[in-house]
Amino acid sequence: MTDKFSPVSRLLHHRTQRLRKGEPIALPIVASSTFEQPGDPDGTHFYGRNGNPTVEEVETEIGLIEEAEVVLFPSGMAAIASVFYAHLKPGDRVLVHADGYYNARGLLADQFATRGVEVRQVATAAFSGADFSGVKLALIETPSNPGLDVCDIAAVAARAKEAGTILVADNTTATPLCQRPLDLGADISIMADTKAMAGHSDILAGHVACRNADLLAPVKTWRRLAGAIVSPFDAYLLHRGIETLELRVARANANAMAIATALSGDLRVTGLRYPGLATDAAHAVARKQMRGYGPIVSFCLADRATAEAFIARHPLLAAATSFGGVHSSAECRVRWGDAVPEGFIRLACGIEPVSDLVAATLAALDGE
Ligand SMILES: *Cc1c(COP(=O)(O)O)cnc(C)c1O
Repeated sequence: MTDKFSPVSRLLHHRTQRLRKGEPIALPIVASSTFEQPGDPDGTHFYGRNGNPTVEEVETEIGLIEEAEVVLFPSGMAAIASVFYAHLKPGDRVLVHADGYYNARGLLADQFATRGVEVRQVATAAFSGADFSGVKLALIETPSNPGLDVCDIAAVAARAKEAGTILVADNTTATPLCQRPLDLGADISIMADTKAMAGHSDILAGHVACRNADLLAPVKTWRRLAGAIVSPFDAYLLHRGIETLELRVARANANAMAIATALSGDLRVTGLRYPGLATDAAHAVARKQMRGYGPIVSFCLADRATAEAFIARHPLLAAATSFGGVHSSAECRVRWGDAVPEGFIRLACGIEPVSDLVAATLAALDGE
């Protein structure tokens, strides 16, 4: 009945369309580790590691946005880990972004390179020209976090397909509302739902989305055996966040665009990156494959002390890591060992009114 509407309308009314008289509009939290299950199992719920109604409803909702089957995890890293553990074995070769989320590379170095998997790093901007021969799986992240480089997903997918490589896209910085890796040919789309999807900086979660049941089956098996299960309470908070995702993403993206525009041409700022800026090196590719350019702006101030002072002085920036929440935040990424200059700031926009955020940013730059 709601099929003719956009995915956002469909997810908002997926539950309401199925309610019987007297049932709650809000999603119930089913807090039970075990379920009534006498005799032989009949396919209904029986144990929390194998399935929970609240978690499954949220998987269905995210599936409506992704237009794919979705498996939920207790963090973004657990989602990434599930794909690696499900699909990599000794002797395999894997390509990973050199400049995206550092823990994905950390996991490969710590758990896979040490067990006979050959790990090769590729810069995000160079991915469509990478050597895919003999590559079992490739993980791209576009726009990359924190450098905001971009790769052409369709072009990379064509190369991967030719080589028989499983292409996995980390879509955390864009969200499926702004960029659709599965439509562009990626086999698997993963997200840290900790960020924009949950959107309120109060839970960790992640998901794997896939339209190929054969690729997803081992991911589900790994989750069940490894026990990487999201709690029904956290699934509920994720559901609550997703209901306002479109509104929050629109405001955060507008904030990022306004700040990037305000900073461009400012002589105190160098290395400004925002894929939405017409002058950005990644804009042509970004424009082709994105409907919104995300909440993150990155740039450099003179040095670490100047950057820290800017963040401390700014009344509308939390000095915190992460992004995709309602509060704008910023940090010097050098503190995590990212290969960036000392004065490099990742500024993650929240949902404050645009004019307040721009005015506060310019005032903080002025030292006010
Ligand atoms: C935060 C993040 C992750 C990891 O998510 P967690 O929920 O912190 O485990 C993965 N990829 C990207 C791009 C991220 O920003």
